Amino acid sequence: MTDVPESHPRHDSLVTRHRIEEGVERGITSRQGLIAQGRGEAFDYLLGEQTISSADAAERAAAAQFLVADHPVVSVNGNVAALVPGEVVELADATGADLEVNLFNRTEERMEAIADHLREHGATEVKGLTADATVPGLDHERAKVDSDGIAAADVVLVPLEDGDRAEALGALDKTEVVIDLNPLSRSAQAATVPVVDNVVRAVPAITEHARDLAGADRETLETIVAEFDADEALAAAERAIREGGDD
Ligand code: ATP
Ligand code: MG
Repeated sequence: MTDVPESHPRHDSLVTRHRIEEGVERGITSRQGLIAQGRGEAFDYLLGEQTISSADAAERAAAAQFLVADHPVVSVNGNVAALVPGEVVELADATGADLEVNLFNRTEERMEAIADHLREHGATEVKGLTADATVPGLDHERAKVDSDGIAAADVVLVPLEDGDRAEALGALDKTEVVIDLNPLSRSAQAATVPVVDNVVRAVPAITEHARDLAGADRETLETIVAEFDADEALAAAERAIREGGDD
């Protein structure tokens, strides 16, 4: 990997880009993942490459959702596996969630490569390879999920998800947490908890909130969940992009 000096003004963005490139080279990320990354970067640039306060509140609400859930699942695609493999394992450990590989362009090779990559980063169990259930409303390949994973989940975290699947999952009786830098994307709009932040900042932030809330009682967690306002969070992100700054 090319060394980017820490002092470079675009350090984090360049490191992120290299990780995606490496993901493509290793067969983890699809070439379309490069385009998705580019879209994300544009929005991150407009947000000042920072976690705005409404995103921090969403990250806390996401952590509370995971802690009250009976069966939380983190859905992992090629971009997520390339960018935050160790971080999703930590999130799963901190919240008792399952990890499930779920790809837009599903191939067995890529499913295996991602599962191996997650195991190299400490995952003990990786779901998604059984694919014995389907999400209604999607074409066959994209609909495949595990019956004891996403199909059985009550709370699902779907980072960088395409709009169709986010809508199909949202239509099921599940709480959907979406990480997406574009507050106008259908994925963010379909979410119960839209987290408008870069996945490289958002996943560790959710884990940190989960650790912070680990001792909280159910009532406290449920209050955090109930007080979160998705429309207001999306509006705050849009204001930050249009007007700059944070409120
Ligand atoms: P729509 O949601 O409007 O249907 P799409 O889902 O088909 O669009 P994609 O390019 O597949 O569009 O989706 C990628 C989404 O992920 C974009 O909204 C992009 O802003 C977001 N994204 C890309 N990289 C990151 C990242 N590192 N962190 C958070 N979000 C990201
Ligand atoms: Mg989208």
